[in-house]
Amino acid sequence: MMRRDLPHDGSGELPRALRDPMLTVVMPAYNEARNLGATLGLVCAALRRLATRWEVVVVDDGSRDDTAQLMSPPPSGVRYLRLARNFGKEAALTAGLVHARGDVVWLMDADGQHPVDLMPEMLQAWRDGADHVCAVRQARDDETWLKRLGTTWFYRVVNMGSPVPITPDAGDYRLFDRCVVNALNALPERNRFMKGLYAWVGFEPRAIAYQPLPRAHGKSSFSTLRLARLAMTGITAFSNLPLRLWSGIGAIAALGALAYGCWVVVEHFAAGHPVPGWPTIVAGLMFTAGVQLLSIGVLGEYVGRIFDEVKQRPVFLVAHDSGAPAEQPAAMA
Ligand code: UDP
Ligand code: MG
Repeated sequence: MMRRDLPHDGSGELPRALRDPMLTVVMPAYNEARNLGATLGLVCAALRRLATRWEVVVVDDGSRDDTAQLMSPPPSGVRYLRLARNFGKEAALTAGLVHARGDVVWLMDADGQHPVDLMPEMLQAWRDGADHVCAVRQARDDETWLKRLGTTWFYRVVNMGSPVPITPDAGDYRLFDRCVVNALNALPERNRFMKGLYAWVGFEPRAIAYQPLPRAHGKSSFSTLRLARLAMTGITAFSNLPLRLWSGIGAIAALGALAYGCWVVVEHFAAGHPVPGWPTIVAGLMFTAGVQLLSIGVLGEYVGRIFDEVKQRPVFLVAHDSGAPAEQPAAMA
């Protein structure tokens, strides 16, 4: 029997295909009061069909709408965690993974974009041996051309310098075996670009094609600016290429300046031309000053991230925690 057929939690020698694992769905929610009820209804029904022990961990990422009232008390089988403020989706996912108790853990959005119909197929992939199943979107034609262009370039840049390839088009609809959750929880970094971390931990990944559904109510919280900030986190966390790039550009600019200097001297002595005046100096100075400022800016991005890491502040703070997993006594027999 192969290693991956065995349970990772040491709960016996049963192969995955014969086990009844506890399932957890981690659901980050930020101002999703209008979607949460319907999404939870669908997810809980799907979980009930798939296992006897399950829970949904709703991580309220500092919502300012009626989410807290909706979740007091949380529905049966739902654990409700409210973060002390809006920490961002990556932190909310981190909080959910830390609190998840399942042997198999899903990440799923609260806005109904991630189809629950895919859950049995994802669980089957786990039973077949995959430790990490990610749903990969088939097409991006529901997005603006600007977002598509930005996404393509982001993955190109980050993958050029990343030690592990980060799958483009794979979002946060994923299933993890407990071993992957434990590995993710053990990563101490505060700048959490989750898609990169999922790739970094490795294990046995499998992709399943899907098409996200339209958002039920409201609109996406990710504006272009917010996406750009997330992209910077991803690039600085997974690639040293921007730092190295400036060494290359600096070397080329310095070599160019040296060659031009030599040319001016030779021209002066050979042809007797006067040394060119201020336009050359001004253009040269402006060019080098621009290159230096840009490179200091890139350096600053990395220094800022180091500053965040050394402060050692927690990634999230939980302000409220209620609810419990659903346990059917028959499952305990
Ligand atoms: N979300 C969150 N914190 C935030 C922003 C978003 O927990 O600061 C949640 C949101 O409630 C949803 C998921 O992350 O469940 C995806 O967000 P959204 O639908 O806005 O993004 P998109 O689908 O456009 O990627
Ligand atoms: Mg969405």
